[in-house]
Amino acid sequence: MLARLDPNATPTITDGSGRHYRLAAAPGCASSFRIERGGPQAAANGQLVRVTLRLASSIADDAEFAAVVAHELAHNILRHRERLAGGRAVGLVRATEIEADRLSVWLMADAGYDPRAAIRFWERHPKPLIRDASHPPRRERIAAIEAEIEAMGAARATDPRARPSLIAALPPLE
Ligand SMILES: [Zn+2]
Repeated sequence: MLARLDPNATPTITDGSGRHYRLAAAPGCASSFRIERGGPQAAANGQLVRVTLRLASSIADDAEFAAVVAHELAHNILRHRERLAGGRAVGLVRATEIEADRLSVWLMADAGYDPRAAIRFWERHPKPLIRDASHPPRRERIAAIEAEIEAMGAARATDPRARPSLIAALPPLE
């Protein structure tokens, strides 16, 4: 019921003893996050970001961990699960991976981490996390991340509040 409300509405609810509560929306992260013992090394399903304990333990520092989480969060923000619902064509999956890498740069920077940690992560993981033709090769990912770091730097040099062009046209994540 609450999810369907206008985010600007401030509904009042009444509890069993007749007390009234006014609810106001506050901005927050729409994704939950969990570290798990098994399953895929890192995954996002639209609402939840999961990372395995094994992957978390293999991370060099907080910034690299932020890179992994930012990549998975980006999949949720960019609604990739919905966009892949019609079929996981190799080209489309690759495109969503590169998009997630690109948006992760902005997420990391805004969270106070050095986005170059994403490059470090990929350089330290010569084997792809998912060995699959649908996932872009490491070199391609690193090149996309480097290009996005440069684009972000240029955009923010003129406007410190510049937002990633990738999400400009997207409806908000509910
Ligand atoms: Zn991914």
